Amino acid sequence: MKKLKIAIQKSGRLSDDSVKLFKACGIKFEVGKSKLMSESKNFPAEFLFLRDDDIPGYVADGVADVGIVGDNVLVEHECHVNRVKSLGFSKCRLSLAVSRDVDYSGVSYFEGKSIATSYPNILGKFLKENGVNAQIHFISGSVEIAPGIGLAEGVCDIVSTGGTLLSNGLKEVEPIFNSEAILIANNSLSKEKLELLDRIVFRMNAVQTADT
Ligand code: ATP
Ligand code: ZN
Repeated sequence: MKKLKIAIQKSGRLSDDSVKLFKACGIKFEVGKSKLMSESKNFPAEFLFLRDDDIPGYVADGVADVGIVGDNVLVEHECHVNRVKSLGFSKCRLSLAVSRDVDYSGVSYFEGKSIATSYPNILGKFLKENGVNAQIHFISGSVEIAPGIGLAEGVCDIVSTGGTLLSNGLKEVEPIFNSEAILIANNSLSKEKLELLDRIVFRMNAVQTADT
């Protein structure tokens, strides 16, 4: 029987809850620090442990059949996959932030200014919708230091509590995108694999009902 290939984040803010969810569904598999793959002994599934950024692409290409990823990464990568189910964990938002001492009056503040972000697509769309012309500076990490080093006037980054912004002298001024973990699947799964996915989703729904 064909195994369902399931991609989850190797280590990070999605990992623990992703593993917990599959285990709560009664699917047993091993998770080890150096493991990149793990077969379930009691369900026809094989787990792949990957960087979260690679998951939408792998699921779109069929390297993995299903995966769990943050909506922020999914939308940013614009991959064509099936959004199966919102999972309710790893909740966070993408927000615009500026230096604490800026007297912020609205989005038009950003007109003609530059903004550092790892999310150029989501930010670009937001600016366009709001009729704001700003320069987007792509940086892949540590976006919060950009204003302090004179690289940009604003940043657009993930916020959950605001602690990182505060400790870098920034304040959140505009939430632009709400995110949570999403279960995604390849668009052209075989009938056999769709049945396996259905079984998993059925169990996930049961687990979630039991939790609430
Ligand atoms: P990787 O090494 O896999 O590339 P990463 O450093 O890019 O990991 P994480 O920081 O682990 O990613 O975040 C993974 C996802 O978790 C984010 O894309 C987002 O959806 C969500 N997330 C990020 N920060 C938070 C947070 N502070 N609270 C809750 N969820 C978050
Ligand atoms: Zn990542």
